[in-house]
Order: sequence, then structure tokens, then C-alpha cells
Amino acid sequence: MSEPRIWMNGKLVSQAEATLPVNSAAVFYATNVFEGLRAYWNESDEQLYCFRLDAHFARFRESMKMMRFATPYSDADLHAAVREVLTGNGFREDIHMHLVGYVVGAGMEATSPTGLYVNPRRRGRLTENDGLKCCISSWARTSDNAIPIRLKCGANYQNGRLALLQAKADGYDAPIFLNQQGRVAEGTGATFFMVRKGQLVTPPVTSDILESITRATLIEHLAQDVLGMPVVEREIARTELYVAEEAFFCGSGYEITPILSIDRFPLGDGHVGAMTQKLLTAYMNIVRGTDKRFPEWRTPVYPKTVKV
Ligand code: PMP
Repeated sequence: MSEPRIWMNGKLVSQAEATLPVNSAAVFYATNVFEGLRAYWNESDEQLYCFRLDAHFARFRESMKMMRFATPYSDADLHAAVREVLTGNGFREDIHMHLVGYVVGAGMEATSPTGLYVNPRRRGRLTENDGLKCCISSWARTSDNAIPIRLKCGANYQNGRLALLQAKADGYDAPIFLNQQGRVAEGTGATFFMVRKGQLVTPPVTSDILESITRATLIEHLAQDVLGMPVVEREIARTELYVAEEAFFCGSGYEITPILSIDRFPLGDGHVGAMTQKLLTAYMNIVRGTDKRFPEWRTPVYPKTVKV
């Protein structure tokens, strides 16, 4: 399989050519903002669909605003970049992408010049009926008044990296963060949901979490549609996790990833929960466009082909 080319500031380049200067704020302070996006190959439509691009671009602009980036990018610029990297590589498979805006200037105060790249990557998934063994991290989620998680910048992910490496060293698959108040926040790169006493519950956006697009997809439509119940947004205490019936992470990259145990307490019967499985199946059908509802969420990448 050939190595995908990267779209960088208007050109498709090889991975080796996509380099940044060591003196840039992007390299030294990780002064960047990014989005993780997915495109899904639909075999019967012979089409590649990007999921909820407009929501990703809106959040990307919010991150650039908070970081005071001097050069904004319009939605049209961002759409063109994503389309060009996908069509230019001729993908006919599921693909994950990092859309990254960065500061080339040197020093802590640099806000310009900025650059943009889209890096397509093949990203695996767990096998069916599998899930994660999680722990509560002893690292706290950074708070909104320190390094806000609402801001999706590379530097923020050092918090996740510390927790992930500790979790792995301790024999778990992934950490769950509590925030500075000791309430449940989220995973390293995913939002947290649990089923407790039959209700689908997730922390509010004020619990030091990223304002996740997948979370919004569940809240706005999927939970009601699939389970016939609303999502309850409320603070979650640590010990609730140990007695939850089900839990999962969700995100553009994680999609819906079941959690089987937390701090070695099995959830439910220790297998993928029934509600989690239903949401997972429904989510995959919608993102891939095998379920044709919500067409406004899917951007087709290739010009429509007429089958003969
Ligand atoms: N939290 C964090 C810290 C993340 O990096 C992500 C992935 N973008 C998420 C949650 C899930 O967000 P989304 O559903 O928008 O991908």
C-alpha cells in the first residue's frame, strides 16, 4: 500500500517533503490547532463521504480564534484542501485525516505566518465485540482556566499522553480523566458516555471536555432515534463508573468504542453492552451513508458517477 501524500499549503507532497522549521512556534511550542476527521468509503454508492465537515471547520475556527492565529481560513479553503487530499490520493477506503493549522513564526508571541496541512492516515478499529479496559487516571484533566480542553491544540495532548502512558504501564488500555473538581471529564481523545440505571449519561461541556461532534450527534439525534431516550448531560462522580451498566468512548477517531471495565470493575456482564452495540451499529450506518438519513452530515468527495 503506497504512503498517502499530504496536502500542504496548496500542494500534494510526500511525507518526507512535509517538514516544518525547528525554530517555528509550531515545532517548539506545538503552536497548532487541529481537527481529526474521517471519510468513509461507501461501496454501493462508489463514493467517499466526509462526516460533519462543517461542524469540524466551525470548531477549527474557534480554536484558531482562541489561539489568536493571524491568518484565518475560510470554509471554502478548508473544503478544497480536504477534497484535494482525498481525490489526489484516489482513496477508495475509509481514511482518517488530521487537518492542522500552525504558526511558522518563531517565539511564544508568534501568531503569523500560519500554514495549513491535511494528513490522511489509515487508522484501525477494534474487532467486533471487543472493548477497552480503562482506569481512572491519577493525572487530572487540565482546567478551562489553565490549558482549556475546548481549544483543540497539539500542546493540550501532553496531558493525554501522560495519562495514556501511565495507563499502559499499569496494564490498562486507556485512561479516563477526572477534572480538577474530581468529576468525570473524558478520555484522551474521546468523550465519555455511560449507561446508569437505564439512562444514557455524559458529562456537560463545562466539565473540562472537548465539545465533541460525535457527542453532539448522539445528543441531537442518535440516542432518541436508536434508543428512544434523550441523553442526560450531568456531572458524573467517580464511583458511578464502577457500578455503571455500560460505558463507551466516542469521537471522530474512536467512533463508538465500548469500555468493558474500569479500574478492573467489569461493567454489566463484562461484554459489550446492548445499548452501546445498538448505537455503534446505527452510527456506522449513518457515517458510511448506508443509512441515507441526515444527508447534510455527509460531504461526497467524488463527482457523482453514473453506473452503467
Ligand atoms: N475529546 C478529545 C480530547 C478529543 O481529542 C476528541 C477527538 N477530537 C474528542 C473528545 C471527540 O471529539 P469529536 O467527536 O469531535 O471527534
